[in-house]
Amino acid sequence: MSPDRTVAYVLPVYDEAENVAAFHRALAAATDERPDLRFEFVYVDDGSGDDSLDRLLELRHDDPRVTVLALSRNFGHQVAVTAGLDAATGADAVIVMDTDLQDPPGVSLELIRVWEKGVDVVYAQRRTRQDGPFKRATAYLFYWLLARLASIDIPRNVGDFRLMDARVVAEVVRYREHDRFLRGIVANVGFRQEAVLFDRDARHAGTTGYPLRKMLAFATSGILGFSTLPLRLISRLGLAISAASVAAACYVLWVRLFVPGQAVPGGPSSASGCSCWAGCS
Ligand code: UDP
Ligand code: MG
Repeated sequence: MSPDRTVAYVLPVYDEAENVAAFHRALAAATDERPDLRFEFVYVDDGSGDDSLDRLLELRHDDPRVTVLALSRNFGHQVAVTAGLDAATGADAVIVMDTDLQDPPGVSLELIRVWEKGVDVVYAQRRTRQDGPFKRATAYLFYWLLARLASIDIPRNVGDFRLMDARVVAEVVRYREHDRFLRGIVANVGFRQEAVLFDRDARHAGTTGYPLRKMLAFATSGILGFSTLPLRLISRLGLAISAASVAAACYVLWVRLFVPGQAVPGGPSSASGCSCWAGCS
């Protein structure tokens, strides 16, 4: 009997030359346990500076289920995953996972089992993680801030390792903003969503592709994309500045009309000089 359901894996790769072969072996071994399903592996090389692309083309040569997309430069993990989702829209379900073996391939089979019970989004939630103290502290702070600021409920300790039913993928790919925060977008589209707990392993080899600069940009996209607080703060600040300007103008007018002896010659124009810097041509 030939498999009638297809599960596609979207696999972002940035400088993982030492990892992709071991990762693919582990993923192929795990998925071999499900001969009743058809699998596709969409690797997205996100402008790697090492030999990742060559290693991926070797995988493609040996395994016809592999597709390789090569981005023209490093666009970042979220854009790489989106490119993979765009390419995987024919599948019945899509699993997104990292290619450094931090997300164990065996767990993806648990995600599939929960999907088969009728759940549309199955996200892998970290019960434990092997990251260093800096990564743990910044991740904790980020999730704490997001929980307080975001207008939607974004689950804690959940990265992008998740399964999405084809209906969910069809909605997610309609969001086209450049500064993307995929886990917020997925939380936002609704459907039936459930967690599977897992223990996150240490990186197989190499170093993280998420230095502090990228982490901050990512956290900013999450907060700006899913919280109205920054906008509300800016508009309140604008209102406060306008109110202070009107009060100052009334004071100047009052002095000029009722206590002209105290009026400082040229005072109003030098006071309004500040706004003129911005407004006068
Ligand atoms: N990655 C990517 N583009 C980037 C940075 C990372 O595609 O600019 C990939 C990377 O190869 C890995 C996944 O995204 O498969 C997660 O990145 P990483 O392991 O460096 O992040 P961490 O696990 O340290 O948060
Ligand atoms: Mg990693």
